[in-house]
Amino acid sequence: MSKIPCTSCGACCASIDGIEFLSKFNQNGICDKLKNNQCSIYESRPLLCRIDDSYDQLFSSYMTKQEFYRLNAKACNELQEKLNIDIKFRVHI
Ligand code: SF4
Repeated sequence: MSKIPCTSCGACCASIDGIEFLSKFNQNGICDKLKNNQCSIYESRPLLCRIDDSYDQLFSSYMTKQEFYRLNAKACNELQEKLNIDIKFRVHI
């Protein structure tokens, strides 16, 4: 797998409370760069929002990329369930 199959549900961008890296964008738990469920600064979004770059720079010495994707997908799906997001957005690895 060359990229995580993100379904663009927007759940992660709408749940940034407590994420220090994104605190300057936090507006009541929702990233203020999220517009119409899309990132308005996509090309220059922070490292933490870039899965592959985060893996390369922060996590590659701890786990394989496949494991990193698996953990991300698990977190995505748990968050979607918590927010009652339609099942069609689940991330399948
Ligand atoms: S900067 Fe963009 S990708 Fe990152 S949380 Fe905000 S809207 Fe989402």
